[in-house]
Parts: sequence; structure tokens; C-alpha cells
Amino acid sequence: MSDAMRYLILGNGAAGVAAARAARSADPAGDITIVGDEPYPYYARVLTSYYLGGLVLRERLWLAGEEWYEWQRVRLIKGRRAVAVDTGSCRVGLDDGRELPYDRLLVATGASPQQIDVPGGKLAGVFTLRTIDDATAIGKFAPPGSQAVVIGGGLVGIKAAEGLHARGLHVRLVVSSGRLLSQALDDAGAELVRRAMAGAGFTIHLQEDVIALEGREKVTAAVLRSGVTVPADVVVVGKGVRPNVEFLQGSGVKMDRGILVDDYLATNVPGVYAAGDVAQAYDYAWQESRINAIWGNAVEQGRLAGLNMAGRRAPYRGGIGRNSLVVNGLGVISGGVVNPPGEGQGSPAGHKEGTGVNVSAVRSPHGDYQVVTRLDEKHLYYRKAVLQGRRLAGMVAVGPPGGAGGFQSLIGREVKEKYIAGFLDGSFTWAMVGR
Ligand SMILES: Cc1cc2nc3c(=O)[nH]c(=O)nc-3n(C[C@H](O)[C@H](O)[C@H](O)COP(=O)(O)OP(=O)(O)OC[C@H]3O[C@@H](n4cnc5c(N)ncnc54)[C@H](O)[C@@H]3O)c2cc1C
Repeated sequence: MSDAMRYLILGNGAAGVAAARAARSADPAGDITIVGDEPYPYYARVLTSYYLGGLVLRERLWLAGEEWYEWQRVRLIKGRRAVAVDTGSCRVGLDDGRELPYDRLLVATGASPQQIDVPGGKLAGVFTLRTIDDATAIGKFAPPGSQAVVIGGGLVGIKAAEGLHARGLHVRLVVSSGRLLSQALDDAGAELVRRAMAGAGFTIHLQEDVIALEGREKVTAAVLRSGVTVPADVVVVGKGVRPNVEFLQGSGVKMDRGILVDDYLATNVPGVYAAGDVAQAYDYAWQESRINAIWGNAVEQGRLAGLNMAGRRAPYRGGIGRNSLVVNGLGVISGGVVNPPGEGQGSPAGHKEGTGVNVSAVRSPHGDYQVVTRLDEKHLYYRKAVLQGRRLAGMVAVGPPGGAGGFQSLIGREVKEKYIAGFLDGSFTWAMVGR
């Protein structure tokens, strides 16, 4: 019998594949298996809305072909789900009855979209968007010229809305909260995005809910809380995601909102690790453990988990929530603490006349923040820096992106006045750092 270390990775997405790649680099002799419930090799989930919109061809979605798994000597079990984990005997049960033993287990099963629980919610034509198959199925109900209702104004809702718009549908967004991108933006930034989208022909309902979907064979209309009924040939629900952890019941793996991991992506159970959308790891902007369900964090956590499983000591310095997208030509870059708790309750501490710059102090049990903003509504330009002492805790940039990406990468670090001034007027560059 071989004494090679047996790595079992659940989830064939960004985190799982990054882990397999890293484990292979650190352990050339290791026995690596990935189990993924989708019938495909690794693909770019982040592009599925562009695929829906006809902006990216299906063949451009693949990030690893079958040959990559062969070349890396990674066994891929596709189209199969893990249904149980026995951490005592170190075995994972699959939905076909197979049992797989492991020495190191990585849970990288991602997250699933929240469904809506309203009458008619299960009608044909009502979808969530997470996978290639979802995008393909939505496309069949979305001929150009038809009516789409997107429920939810978060990242996936906005991206789904844009995809449907690109296909030539009339798109109506129904958003419970008072602003679009409520996690990624504040009111001022979100209002610019709303205007840009409305200008491009989207119909947007804020502080509104779909309370029922109507139709016989398939959905034909959505009933809003305000009493209005709107036409709907296709409905996409983008109301956030929840980690895929059901199969861990009884395993002893500790959870909060997601699977709790330490600085090495290890869970409380020896030999068991977690990474990606399923994991709740250290966030260095909030300085607490959080789920940051974004691609870059999944890849980084997966990579480090793979190294740690293979016996390296590769600490995770933490991640942050980070967004970078273009909505109808309007750049949106944000990260970290975008809406400090208690914001809006204090009074502005200062206003620099004629510059559009505002400074305010925010006190909360979570800590004290200073918020500096610059708004130029006419030119759809908004910038916000959130500081805790001299430490940059978060930022928002809506409009031309000049300097915003570089400034975003300073989150968690001490920043000088001149960096903030440069960020506010769009002139910040990395070259300023260290000068
Ligand atoms: C439409 C859309 C747009 C997005 N846009 C962006 C973006 O612009 N920027 C960004 O940073 N992020 C974006 N994201 C989020 C990003 O895709 C995720 O953060 C990332 O895919 C997480 O990777 P992961 O490996 O943790 O999980 P996943 O990519 O979800 O991979 C997990 C895999 O495990 C499978 N699985 C689940 N349960 C089991 C089980 N029991 N057994 C076996 N397999 C299982 C899942 O089906 C999936 O294939 C977007 C997501 C969507 C849906």
C-alpha cells in the first residue's frame, strides 16, 4: 500500500482547484481527489452573467480542461455530491454510496443562492444564477424584447440584470433595501449607480418586494408589495447566498455563519480545512472573522489551505470584502468597511466649502471612525475613505477609477493625508507611497 498523503477536496471551484494546485506543488507524491457536484471541469463562475448576456462565449468560461487534472495527477469526481463526513473514521460519503477515505480534507463547497419563499416562487421561469447551467436555463426563458424581473440589488442581482439587458430584455430590478449594492456601497455611491442604470433603461424599484409570482405553466407577472403587478417572462432571484455546509452535520466541525477557520485555514477538527465562500476567516478591515464571498479570497484561501494541508506553515493574513465592477460604464470600486456602524447618526465634523469634501466622525460600539467623502453629482463622481485613526478601514469610488484600485489595496494600512487627498481628487498613485 502507498503511504502517500490522501487529500480529499470537496468542491471543484476557485478554492478547491487552487488548493489542489498548491498541494500538488508542495507534495509531488500526494494522492489528490476533488469531488464536485457540477458536471464540468473548473470554470469562471464570475463570468456566468456575461455568458448569459451573450458577451462571453461558453468556451471562454473554462479555466481548466480535463487535461489539467491529468497533468496535475488530480482525480476529479464530477457530478457527485458529498453527503456526509465522518471525522472519526476520516471518511466522506458521496451521493452514489461511495465512501472516500482521507488524511487531509478541504471543504470548499462554496455557497448557494437564497431562494424566495413567495406564492408562485417555484413556477417555471423563476431562477437563481450561480452556475453555467443556471445561465443556460435562464437564457431559454429570455428572448430579446421580453420582460425580466430581477429580485435583489446585490452583486449577483446587478450582474444578472446587466446580462439580461445585454440580451435585449427590458429589465426591472426589485430591491428590498433603500439602495443598490447595499453591501458594497453607501447611499451616495448607490444613488449614482441607480441613476446610471435608470439612464440606460432599467426600471428600478427600491424599498420594494415581490410578494407573489403569477402564471399558469410559467411565470407571467410579479406582484409587488405596493400593489402593482408587473409583467415577468423570466425572474432571477439574487438575494444573497448561504454556505453549503448541510453535509457537515454531526461532523463536529464548528460553524458560525460559515465554517470557522484559524490563520492556517484549519477548522477545529484536526486534518479538516475550509476555504472560499463556505469559510468564515479573519477580515483585516473589520478586524473580526467574516465570510467574504468573493473570487480572489477563495483562490487565496484555497492556495494557502492546500499548502498547509501538505505540511507547510503558510499563514493567511486575512481578507476583506472587495468589489470592482463597471455598471453601465460607471466604475464601482469599494472595499472593507464601507458603511461604518452608526454612520449617519452623528453630525458632520467639517465641510470644505466649494470642494464637495465632507468630513464626519462616527462613534459606535465597534469603534470610532472618521469618514471623508467627496461628491460631484453632476459628473457622477463619488469618493469615500473610512478611517480608524490613521488606518484605512474602507473606501468607495464611483465614477472614473483613477487611483481607486491602488487606494483599495491600502486598506488595513496606515495612510497619510496626501494619499487621502490624492484619492479624493483621483490623483493617488502607488508612487506616492513611501515618498
Ligand atoms: C453571477 C456571479 C457573479 C459573480 N461575480 C463576482 C465578481 O465579479 N467578483 C468576485 O470576486 N466574485 C464574484 N462572484 C462570487 C464568486 O464566484 C465566488 O466567490 C467564488 O466562486 C467562490 O469560490 P468557491 O470555490 O468558494 O465556491 P464555488 O465557486 O461555488 O465552488 C464550489 C463548488 O462546490 C460544489 N458543491 C457544493 N456542495 C457540494 C457537495 N456537497 N459536494 C460536492 N460539490 C459541492 C458547488 O456546486 C461548486 O461547483 C460571483 C458569483 C456569481 C454567481
